[in-house]
Amino acid sequence: MEFGLSREQTMLLDSLRDMGKRERFKELAVKIDTTGEFPHSLMEKYGRMGLLGMTLSSDYGGEGLDSLTAILAIEELAKFSPMIAAPVFESNVGPVRVINLFGTDHQKEAIIPGVCKGELSVSVCMTEAEAGSDLTSLATNVEEKKDHYLLNGNKVFITGGGVASHYLVYTRFEGIKGYKGIGAVLVEKDAPGFTFGKQERFLGLRGMPSCALYFDNVKIPKENLVIQPGDFGNLMLAFDIERCGNAAMCLGIAVGAFEEAKKYAMERNAFDRPLCEFQNIQFSFADMAMKIDAARLLVYRAAAGAGKGLPSIYEASMGKCYANEMVKEVTDTALQILGGYGYSTEYPLERMLRDARAWQVAGGSLQMLKITMASMIFGRRFDQRK
Ligand SMILES: Cc1cc2nc3c(=O)[nH]c(=O)nc-3n(C[C@H](O)[C@H](O)[C@H](O)COP(=O)(O)OP(=O)(O)OC[C@H]3O[C@@H](n4cnc5c(N)ncnc54)[C@H](O)[C@@H]3O)c2cc1C
Repeated sequence: MEFGLSREQTMLLDSLRDMGKRERFKELAVKIDTTGEFPHSLMEKYGRMGLLGMTLSSDYGGEGLDSLTAILAIEELAKFSPMIAAPVFESNVGPVRVINLFGTDHQKEAIIPGVCKGELSVSVCMTEAEAGSDLTSLATNVEEKKDHYLLNGNKVFITGGGVASHYLVYTRFEGIKGYKGIGAVLVEKDAPGFTFGKQERFLGLRGMPSCALYFDNVKIPKENLVIQPGDFGNLMLAFDIERCGNAAMCLGIAVGAFEEAKKYAMERNAFDRPLCEFQNIQFSFADMAMKIDAARLLVYRAAAGAGKGLPSIYEASMGKCYANEMVKEVTDTALQILGGYGYSTEYPLERMLRDARAWQVAGGSLQMLKITMASMIFGRRFDQRK
């Protein structure tokens, strides 16, 4: 069992840390949260550095690296803000991986080189107003015509909505009931009949574009079929790598909060002594460090197990659940260490606490992933409808 990082991975993390200082990412994180504007300029910069195609096929301009390397990069950038890590997350562990793994040569050619350069991006579109955790009841539907599909339906909470160039839409085919009728098609942003709702306003993750999508008789060329109906399992398998990315965001936010609190505890005096000399404060830091490291080991295990492919569902679910709970606890403890200043917008802790809350809803809720783990523990499926 090898716990060390490779020389290349260490160099990558060093270069990201240097970039963070050089580009003043701490200040950028405040600006994004205050203005609610996504930092689009990062896309091209990351593209030039090869950060957007790390896990994508080298035949199409990617680097062909393993998932762990991308997870490390996401964690490192999320220490500043999950918004600063978002482009690396979306391209390396998001829906582009589905196209990379299961798409046709034509689709890969059309999408991956542009994603690697930061010119294109893809949103994953599963959730509907009446189908979130219960995804297999989704109602968006395609009808097969002679030379195209006709797409109708709505989606909600779509990250990148209105901004991404392409949308990987999970849809039912010809009204076939249950998971067997679900596949996925690729929809271009400017397709006639495709429109967007107003941008969501969330507790945290300010600056992350998100909105509802409306499909009204949208004509989809047949070559845009990415996942056949009946291959729904492939979609869910590919989603497990996104779950590792979600967990890496949690690691980054938690470490960011931990470092802020540590600096403060060494500088701030109470009763004529620095805070870090009080035993209760020391216990808080030991607890935070243990939780971060435990989450990190689970997440790295899942990502390392994935290699250049997909992780174990059990390991990815466990890593995500643990990291989702850990980041809430760590950001809350870190905020407490800063007292009133932790609650003030003058310090980043309140933002980190807000950003921490999203992850146990996004990417499959904590409860649904625990149900997945339970079915593996007991070796049987628990049908939630019965
Ligand atoms: C920041 C953010 C980004 C997102 N990005 C995307 C995106 O890019 N693409 C996309 O498709 N979706 C996205 N989503 C939507 C997200 O995937 C859903 O919100 C999530 O799957 C939960 O669905 P829901 O909101 O409909 O809640 P529901 O499914 O209605 O669940 C409500 C609550 O009940 C619990 N629950 C439901 N069923 C059970 C059960 N059987 N047993 C126990 N508890 C249960 C859930 O855990 C949850 O706590 C995003 C959400 C957020 C917050």
